[in-house]
Amino acid sequence: MSLSNKATLFLVATPIGNLSEVSDRTLDTLRNVDVIACEDTRNTIKLLSHFDIHTRMITYHNFNEEESARGIIKLLEEGNNVALVSDAGYPLISDPGYLLVNAVIEKGFRIVTVSGPNAGLNALVASGLNTNHYLFYGFLNAKTSQARKELEELKTFPYTIIFYEAPHRIEKTLKLMHEVLGDRKACLARELTKVHEEYHRGTLSELCELHELKGEMVLIVEGYKKESEETDIEQLLDEVEELVADGERSKQAVNQISSRYGFSKNVLYNAYLKRKDERGE
Ligand code: SAM
Repeated sequence: MSLSNKATLFLVATPIGNLSEVSDRTLDTLRNVDVIACEDTRNTIKLLSHFDIHTRMITYHNFNEEESARGIIKLLEEGNNVALVSDAGYPLISDPGYLLVNAVIEKGFRIVTVSGPNAGLNALVASGLNTNHYLFYGFLNAKTSQARKELEELKTFPYTIIFYEAPHRIEKTLKLMHEVLGDRKACLARELTKVHEEYHRGTLSELCELHELKGEMVLIVEGYKKESEETDIEQLLDEVEELVADGERSKQAVNQISSRYGFSKNVLYNAYLKRKDERGE
């Protein structure tokens, strides 16, 4: 492999469980760079030993990213090529590296990515949920009150959402999602690329029936459905009509209901007129 004269930061994705998913290019890069910056040397050493790679490792800490980034910039300034890896999958994806990449861009060093597995994408493509558009959300906040707020914000997001979750929190998270997002389709993908890889597909309420889930897991959740938006309009129209029946003028009633629910006045008023028209009123 030829490394450029200009010092380069290689962002290298590593296996998420199955070591045979590592590519020749990944191995070449890890073998030929001067330094590998990793989250935890105890994890990365397993990968390196398996492939008989002896490149020097340094730690890139999540809890002290600024200082770690400064150290790597210094290495690049001295002409070293550096590979950044995380414990699994892509660095920067629910893993450290964001500060470093920005610092490297600012300093004008080269950045090269070396492709590999990502847990979220594996789970998404096997989930059976819409893959045309999706959001990678990663971990919700560990505090329930904060997680609830985040889910409230995602409630009307219309596309599939990818979440990461730890096994000790999954049951609580599924209940919270069911409570806040309603009963949507979802898929819990476990132990991807490993011997016990499995998928639980169903609705959030069905997934809430699962217990003692172990291992690493990704949760794919269906986006907000247009049908429910239409149902919402019907419900809003019912409320408008109740106000009108109580003597409110139609425009006033529409204004009141649309501001109560943060809904477009025009859309609601047109739907109101259409409903009246369809009834021949
Ligand atoms: N950087 C990684 C990536 O690109 O996928 C993600 C790292 S994040 C710290 C770890 C989380 O990823 C786990 O808690 C789990 O949600 C998910 N994950 C990683 N490996 C997985 C696997 N083999 N099966 C299922 N989920 C996995």
